[in-house]
Amino acid sequence: MPEGEAIHRTAAALRTALVGRAVLSFEGPHVDGPMPAPGRVIELVEHRGKQLDIRWDDGLILHTNLLFGGAWHLYRTGEGWRKPMSQMRVGITVDDFTAVCFGARVVETYREFDAHRHPGFGRSGPDLSAEAADLGAAVEALCRYDALDASIAEALLDQQVACGVGNVYRSEILWACQQHPLAPVSMLAKSDMERVVSTAVRVLRANLKPTSTDDADPRSRLAVYGRNGQRCRRCGDTIEVRRIGEHARLLYWCPGCQVRRGPRPVPAPIDQREMDPHPAAAKFLSELPWRRRDTLAG
Ligand SMILES: [Zn+2]
Repeated sequence: MPEGEAIHRTAAALRTALVGRAVLSFEGPHVDGPMPAPGRVIELVEHRGKQLDIRWDDGLILHTNLLFGGAWHLYRTGEGWRKPMSQMRVGITVDDFTAVCFGARVVETYREFDAHRHPGFGRSGPDLSAEAADLGAAVEALCRYDALDASIAEALLDQQVACGVGNVYRSEILWACQQHPLAPVSMLAKSDMERVVSTAVRVLRANLKPTSTDDADPRSRLAVYGRNGQRCRRCGDTIEVRRIGEHARLLYWCPGCQVRRGPRPVPAPIDQREMDPHPAAAKFLSELPWRRRDTLAG
């Protein structure tokens, strides 16, 4: 098998086994950079050439370069390894599987830099999964977003508003409180922000509890994340997905029941090649309901 095809298959297998799963343990004795926390959900596996990256829902990225004989193996729980443990560079265990990277020259972790930082630079927001989290501080940090043209979905991912949310639970939290994810923060009342923060606490702490045997697949707990095209379990509408923000991270939501403080209608982007040259026709087209819906759906 050509090398390129081999790594493509490896990435596909890792994606199937890991994406949407919470990490039970991470071993990387010589990994440069921060360690992913147990319980964080793996969001993405991607490769470019011989480089294979795994991304967690809190923005942590594990970067491996498989030049010169590096390889990822995937084992079912209890299965014997085909290489000695001493050659392991990284081991990631989720329910049912352990992914092991052997012999990679480069194994490092880093966090995505977000250029759209919160205006109140400085310390991180409260960790909402912790017992004594200062929820008022998270609400106040959200309030400071008023002046910015940011949606609640973007603000919720800012570590200076709150730690521990991550991309998977961002979608879940906003679904749980029926909040439209693209609502500008400036449209939200303080009570809306309090509702979002208290829901975040509930969702994140529920995730820390161990899974029971009849709930072995962590993805079965998710209401919207990864479920685009499926029916919403609350209202039956079809779950949508779009990429938002600087890193084009996936946001899932239900347009049927997440309607609280929906965004202001935005001018529809009109494709100049398709546009009727007459201004009145353009205005008419931009106001058609399906055009506006296109804008929201990206
Ligand atoms: Zn719904």
